[in-house]
Amino acid sequence: MRPLLILLLLAASVAASAQEVICHRGYWDTDGSAQNSLRSLVKADSIGAWGSEFDVWMTADGMLVVNHDASYGGVTIETAKWKQLKDMRLKNGELLPTLEQMLKCGKMLKTRLIVEMKPHSSREHELEAARKIVKLVRHLGLEARVEYITFSYQGMKNLKELAPAGTPVYYLNGELSPSQLNELGVAGIDYSIRVMREHPQWIDEAHALGMKVNVWTVNSERDMQWCINYGVDFITTNAPERLQQLLNE
Ligand code: MG
Repeated sequence: MRPLLILLLLAASVAASAQEVICHRGYWDTDGSAQNSLRSLVKADSIGAWGSEFDVWMTADGMLVVNHDASYGGVTIETAKWKQLKDMRLKNGELLPTLEQMLKCGKMLKTRLIVEMKPHSSREHELEAARKIVKLVRHLGLEARVEYITFSYQGMKNLKELAPAGTPVYYLNGELSPSQLNELGVAGIDYSIRVMREHPQWIDEAHALGMKVNVWTVNSERDMQWCINYGVDFITTNAPERLQQLLNE
């Protein structure tokens, strides 16, 4: 084989391997798992996923709880006391996890912990949530393993300010261009596949600014291939093993 061709192939394989898989709400679509469960985090780690994402809310009495929706079992997390939620179970039988349990579980694993702070209904409550999340991550010695994502513009700024310098914080909401976010010191865009298909130029724009690009929730092979072809850095998916197969092809 000619040296130039070998170099090109090497470069292509390096570019391909730079694309990373993030399990959306953990790896839940598999036996014994459930969305945002401890098990889903262990499962994500077991398949070698680069990262595993989960969602965080804070109760009225300051407990950080892992759940996607604003409510669980008919109880609104933000306005509830922890005692109203602590005995609730997930679909796989686990108790509704706290952030502390999730992080302690993650500490025993290798996968990166992608913490999504949900937008809370008051600025004060959300700021308190951000403070507590960052403090807990520090207390558990996980600062180098955690990245933050949020739909909340103010929450993004709060996390950026509170977390140690260099901690990746990504914005999810989709309306700001990479250059607008770059001025805020955000690590990159973490936008939906719908938004990214409307603004594919944002991928190159972000990369030119030294920012990363994450796309969610990429479940169809068509969308996975689109992300792979466009060279996005992180692909967040409910079908991580299928994505791993595509990345290895
Ligand atoms: Mg999420």
